[in-house]
Amino acid sequence: PEIDYANATHPFLDGAPKRMLIGGQWVAAASGKTFETRNPATGDLLAVVPEGDREDIDRAVAAARAAFEGPWRRMKPDERAALMHALADVLDAHYDELAWLDTLDMGSPIRHTRGSRRHLVGLMRYFAGQATAIHGLTAETSLNGDMFAATLKEPVGVVGAIIPWNGPLWATVFKTAPVLATGCTLVLKPAEDAPLTPLRFAELALQAGVPPGVINVVTGFGAGAGAALAEHPGVDKLSFTGSVGTGQQIVRASAGNLKRLSLELGGKSPHILFDDADVQRAAQSAAMGVFANAGQICSAGTRVFVQRGIYDEVVEAMARAGAALRVGAGTDPTSDIGPLVSPRQMARVLGYVDSARDEGARLVSGGARLDGPAHAQGNFVAPTVFADVRDPMRIAREEIFGPVASVMPYDDLDEVVRRANDSPFGLGAGVWTRDIGRAHAMAKRLQSGSVWVNCYNQMDPSMPFGGVKQSGYGRESGAQQLDEYLNVKGLWIQH
Ligand code: NAD
Repeated sequence: PEIDYANATHPFLDGAPKRMLIGGQWVAAASGKTFETRNPATGDLLAVVPEGDREDIDRAVAAARAAFEGPWRRMKPDERAALMHALADVLDAHYDELAWLDTLDMGSPIRHTRGSRRHLVGLMRYFAGQATAIHGLTAETSLNGDMFAATLKEPVGVVGAIIPWNGPLWATVFKTAPVLATGCTLVLKPAEDAPLTPLRFAELALQAGVPPGVINVVTGFGAGAGAALAEHPGVDKLSFTGSVGTGQQIVRASAGNLKRLSLELGGKSPHILFDDADVQRAAQSAAMGVFANAGQICSAGTRVFVQRGIYDEVVEAMARAGAALRVGAGTDPTSDIGPLVSPRQMARVLGYVDSARDEGARLVSGGARLDGPAHAQGNFVAPTVFADVRDPMRIAREEIFGPVASVMPYDDLDEVVRRANDSPFGLGAGVWTRDIGRAHAMAKRLQSGSVWVNCYNQMDPSMPFGGVKQSGYGRESGAQQLDEYLNVKGLWIQH
């Protein structure tokens, strides 16, 4: 039966203080400290969560190390694969419940959070398959004598993962799957704004048979648990998703033991519309490329470059598309867009709206907090379109992480390539054209981790996702990702 998301009480929210998972045990923070997590649509308290710190990270890393060196290390690839399929089954069976928890904790509409089932269950299964496909190679050397030379791939060991709040279930599954596939173990630090889904996921993973200590979850703040994990000498690799500023701190913090890093950071992605495109489809894509998840997507296409001949038509169509979106509580199944995650985030986004006005951009639609009776308790911002934005303006340069589109005209291909690439970020890029030669030329010349032609924000377990420049390094998903969790050892045997 369909869950009544707006009125039912989530089974995970029973009023009891939450515990975190260390070595298979549900524990409070060593300090006894806690923090609150609230529903961003209503401001209601959802749960009290342990505020883990350095001591808890020490315990979790020790548990992850013990698990890594225990029976988990000797488990065969097909056994890990079977376990991952069992976890995928549990994820599938509990998907609506997990999506609902994401919706409550970070605001994204239930329609959006439920929509990721196929991708996330599929990702777990994809990596289950990868678990049995880890292999090195043999090399024909030019040395004298008979030499057997080969490479072995071995799990890096204890992996730390630090994730943001904009897709807690998504990020948890993305961080967990390659760890399990390679035989590593994990200490996960959820975002303080959305810690609940990772805790519930970890509970389900234990139920699915993931051995104690293989997945540990320490909730807490960035400066506490996060920094302790990044610095920890017992962590062999850190996988971070979040902002550039925090990524830079993590690079510095990781220097002590030179742990391996992968960084999935922010973006200011260009979405480029040529005048031979299907204009209405392109404009709709450009609008949803910014407004989906209230703009809280790292690869949001926030710089919309429109060729001059179709500029007015696109600006108008994007404004219409934004105004047609239903902005409301995530638990309302008819909502297209939910609130921003926190009052702080809303204030930040509205600050960018003010800066755009001050710098002379033309506000076409939105541009304000929604404060009618249905919205007053939440952090709702109307989908916003600014036209006539110029490249040096702050809204054209900085990541806003809210539903704010910066639309800019351009004249020709060389100009738009130069302007699109003139950014410290390089995460995603969209191109709309019916000219195949132009599509290929753009795909080669844009500096970004992904290029989407006549589509936007497409993802699949078989495809890599990640950035260039300050959008980070390393890739998630796709066949290559496992190498980031494996060490390559050269083996030489003289006959
Ligand atoms: P954030 O960088 O503020 O926080 C992310 C995580 O880092 C949180 O868990 C936080 O507690 C932790 N953290 C904060 N300070 C830390 C420190 N000094 N040491 C260790 N950990 C610390 O990011 P956010 O505001 O939660 O998330 C939004 C950002 O994430 C945006 O920039 C967005 O683009 C980015 N993001 C990137 C991707 C991607 O795949 N490239 C995906 C989603 C989000």
